[in-house]
Amino acid sequence: MTDHTFQAEVQQLLQLMIHSLYSEREIFLRELISNAADACDKLRFQALTDPGLTGSDSDYRIRVVADSENHTLTISDNGIGLTEAEAIEHLGTIARSGTKAFVEQLKASGKEADAASLIGQFGVGFYSAFMVADTITVESRSAKASADEAVRWTSTGDGSYQTESIARAQRGTTITLQLKDDAHEFAEQWRLRSLIKKYSDFVAYPVFMPKAAEEGKESEDEQVNASQALWTRPKEEISDEQYTEFYRGACHQWDEPATRLHFRVEGQQEFTALLFVPSQKPMDLFDRDRRGLSLYVRRVFIMDDCTDLLPEYLRFVRGVIDSSDLPLNVSREILQQQGMVQKLKKILTRRVLDHLDSLARSEDEADRQAFATIDRSFGPVLREGLVNDPEQKDRLAKLARYQSTWTLDQDQAQSEAPEHPSRTSLADYVSRLAEGQESIYYVTAPNLAAAKSSPHLEGYRAKGFEVLFMTEPVDDYAMQYGGLGEFDGKKLVHVAKGSADLEDEAAKAELAEATKQYKEFCGFATGQLAGIKEVRLSSRLTDSPACLVTDENGMSEGMQEMMRRFGQDVPEQERILELNPRHELVQRLHSRFGEGKQEELSPWLQLLRDQALLAEGASIKDGAATAKRMQELMAKAL
Ligand code: ADP
Repeated sequence: MTDHTFQAEVQQLLQLMIHSLYSEREIFLRELISNAADACDKLRFQALTDPGLTGSDSDYRIRVVADSENHTLTISDNGIGLTEAEAIEHLGTIARSGTKAFVEQLKASGKEADAASLIGQFGVGFYSAFMVADTITVESRSAKASADEAVRWTSTGDGSYQTESIARAQRGTTITLQLKDDAHEFAEQWRLRSLIKKYSDFVAYPVFMPKAAEEGKESEDEQVNASQALWTRPKEEISDEQYTEFYRGACHQWDEPATRLHFRVEGQQEFTALLFVPSQKPMDLFDRDRRGLSLYVRRVFIMDDCTDLLPEYLRFVRGVIDSSDLPLNVSREILQQQGMVQKLKKILTRRVLDHLDSLARSEDEADRQAFATIDRSFGPVLREGLVNDPEQKDRLAKLARYQSTWTLDQDQAQSEAPEHPSRTSLADYVSRLAEGQESIYYVTAPNLAAAKSSPHLEGYRAKGFEVLFMTEPVDDYAMQYGGLGEFDGKKLVHVAKGSADLEDEAAKAELAEATKQYKEFCGFATGQLAGIKEVRLSSRLTDSPACLVTDENGMSEGMQEMMRRFGQDVPEQERILELNPRHELVQRLHSRFGEGKQEELSPWLQLLRDQALLAEGASIKDGAATAKRMQELMAKAL
């Protein structure tokens, strides 16, 4: 017998799970049955190319046996089984990426309710059985191993587990739980039957339990679940609860799905799709390789996490695709080469995007709420598509939602702050265009606070032009790479680049006059400021003395930051400092300059530049120098 220790994250997860999921611990049975079904799926698939693996036993089944006197429960399957090495690999670690970050977040959250929902997002799996069991014993024989190469894995759920090799006549896995004192109910017949009906009715394999034996007779097994793939049934016959249980059991999800699509496509491509959009973000949302679709061919499971059926920006969609056309022996490699798969992907993408749009525009409040939930969780992921999938750009542009100067005003006008800030679509924005407004304006910033207080907005606000807040890195990226150049014939223009649109004739004349007066001063200021290629006057500001702008063709601050994060070399971009000639501070600096006090001006000008950087939410490179300058000026002023 060999001793092993659990990966640290497993130990922590176990601790947290046992304490936070107490009221939902019955889900352990769903998890174990769904693992058993997965094991059957895997073997059925491998046997397509290697029929020797199943021998004469190709009747896949799951068996649940309870012993209410000894308080044990066993779940067995004749699926693919585990070798000792596989048991150590799979039942001692968590392979999922992001596990560590997840556990940290869990510990930090402190609140039990939060922990429960976090664990839910992560998926609980095998380890959930420790919520009801003092001891778990797994006996397993891989379909590839001989009778004397089986393994016994045992643990009491503290830091360690033991393995030893044993003999086992049948392939597959038997999991035995020694139930905790307060969990004896899970060895009761009626309780188990109702749980299996509730959670595992649509598991594709039969789940058997022994019938109560009649006097003097051998007990017989009877099937407890319906065991019919849910997606093959007509929609009308499936209840919301059944869909949700399928989503949780088969897609390994925990939350309520925000929406679902169940449809069949006939004709050139024949397939059935049952898709769900979760309501909550999973931990691994930014793991681009994880896609939540399982592929079946004529009810036979082919693979999980199929990456070829939906684009990266729909990686949050969960569900199954059952194709009638693909060959059964299709592998990941073949899948990538099949033109058929490309077509399938296109159809699925279009269906999902159109469905989301129909939710957004639905008459039904619940649908619109569902869309808002999806937008909050996955909006930024969807918008990645604006750059990556030009073909669907129009569909994606319709789904994009942003906060704006207008939505903020709307929210503020409410007597009670809404639970979630409102967002606007581009179409609604366009329907509100002010008189004389030709373009759609937006500001990019690292967060809402910075976007809101951007001095660039002032002139637009004064004109009554709405400005969209683009605060996600993806938005900056999408705008930079022309993902959204236009909408409904209106150009999208960054506020830092569109000042000319704001000026009417009188303002232009006023500005031209001031520019003449300030000419020398601006030239002097340009010479004083590192990183600034030009200081000039502007009429876009009303309340602030100064702001920084980028050339028409320049790269925005946010974009630069993102490129650097991806390890790209981005040369420092020189910016333009615009001054507001109507502002007292600027006027005073100008008159000091006129009095010949040039040498005094440099620290003031530098401070003016630094506060303009701060105002747009960027950081100051040499904070210490700025602090020193401020102290000196404050001392002088007092
Ligand atoms: P998940 O199912 O999400 O991968 P689990 O913790 O439930 O996570 O299971 C971990 C792994 O253990 C599975 O991926 C599988 O490889 C293995 N496993 C669990 N139960 C069985 C079983 N009944 N038969 C074969 N392998 C199993």
